[in-house]
Amino acid sequence: MNAEIIAVGSELLLGQITNTNARFLSNHLAELGINVYYHTVVGDNSDRLEDAIKIAESRADLILFTGGLGPTKDDLTKESIARHLDTTLEMNQEALDSIVAFFQRAGRPMTENNKKQALVLKDSNVLVNHNGMAPGMMYEKDGRVYILLPGPPKEMEPMFQFEAKPKLARLLNKADVILSHVLRFYGIGEAELEDRLQHILDKQSNPTIAPLAADGEVTLRITAKTNTVEEAWQLINSTKDEILDLVGDYLYGYDDDSLASKTVELLKGQKKTISAAESLTAGLFQSELASVAGASAVLAGGVITYNEAMKIQQLGLSSELLAEHGVVSEQTALAMAEAVRSKFKTDISVSLTGAAGPDAHGDQPAGTVWIGIATENGSQSFRLQLSGMRNTNRLRAVKLALHYVIR
Ligand code: ATP
Ligand code: MG
Repeated sequence: MNAEIIAVGSELLLGQITNTNARFLSNHLAELGINVYYHTVVGDNSDRLEDAIKIAESRADLILFTGGLGPTKDDLTKESIARHLDTTLEMNQEALDSIVAFFQRAGRPMTENNKKQALVLKDSNVLVNHNGMAPGMMYEKDGRVYILLPGPPKEMEPMFQFEAKPKLARLLNKADVILSHVLRFYGIGEAELEDRLQHILDKQSNPTIAPLAADGEVTLRITAKTNTVEEAWQLINSTKDEILDLVGDYLYGYDDDSLASKTVELLKGQKKTISAAESLTAGLFQSELASVAGASAVLAGGVITYNEAMKIQQLGLSSELLAEHGVVSEQTALAMAEAVRSKFKTDISVSLTGAAGPDAHGDQPAGTVWIGIATENGSQSFRLQLSGMRNTNRLRAVKLALHYVIR
């Protein structure tokens, strides 16, 4: 089965929002073994949408739409599709009831145009919206499947995952099991990882292995298709073992793990606490840790000492040290980490100082970063030379600092 995703919305064409819906859907369709050959974006215009549908029908047997199911005038996806497929829209009582209930709960009067959201394509399979008002639809005609989903990701994603995906899997007559397992690597580039795994990647068929590089991380998604869950895990595990024999040193986690979640998990296990003194990253390191549920068990806090005066006042660094070595230096990084460790009385402390860019910091070129890590066994420093844009460098420095803590 070949698919095309049509994202409807003028704000996508205007560059106001990113088409994250297409990314999400492509990911999930790949898990079903469905090839996505095209992503289309079209504005809120009935004629152009109909043109897009015609083109999609010439090259795909599954067409997914997102956006334009709402109550306003520019929401015209289902009307355009109904017209194109020569069918009509009819009121869906269940959807209408839930919209009425929504307005009652909110204590607001329901306007007439809100009723429009409960209109669905005649004879379609209704996809319940548990996070909003407009229902989705799955419709079959002439051997093609049309799936209509709302635009807001918080409505679209669960609707696809829990309503549409199982129906699609059944339609594909997939009695078999499809399981995916993601391996997460840090500290190795995508090219090097692929190079080391070349012979495994070349012979892959079941399970398949899909590498992906993003935000300085590399992931490998291993997907197996078999008849039973057990068999799928056997296939995945034997491939995983082969992979880890070669690049296991760089593995930091699996599936939904992140560097921050692994850091919190590790420190929790060791009953250790952490603090940070941040210059370059101005709190990003702590914020990243705090994004993990349960971070308070390990994260004590820290200081943001962005200028020199605060490094002296808050951390007690000496002006001589700063003058002699500069703010972006190994000595400053170590002094910051040690000072915040004694101030916050934590087991581990991290410091980040650097030239985020685009300009150099004195004689330190843009992208120079020093990370300090202080523990009861002494302090260590790491120098990075990053080459991204300012905020990419700041984020990359946070991830590398987390990486140094857990490795
Ligand atoms: P609503 O009932 O909220 O109007 P809708 O189904 O009519 O939903 P749209 O009006 O097209 O959807 O889009 C609503 C919002 O959903 C957009 O403003 C945007 O924030 C988000 N959105 C729409 N399409 C996408 C997309 N392809 N990727 C990411 N976000 C999207
Ligand atoms: Mg809308």
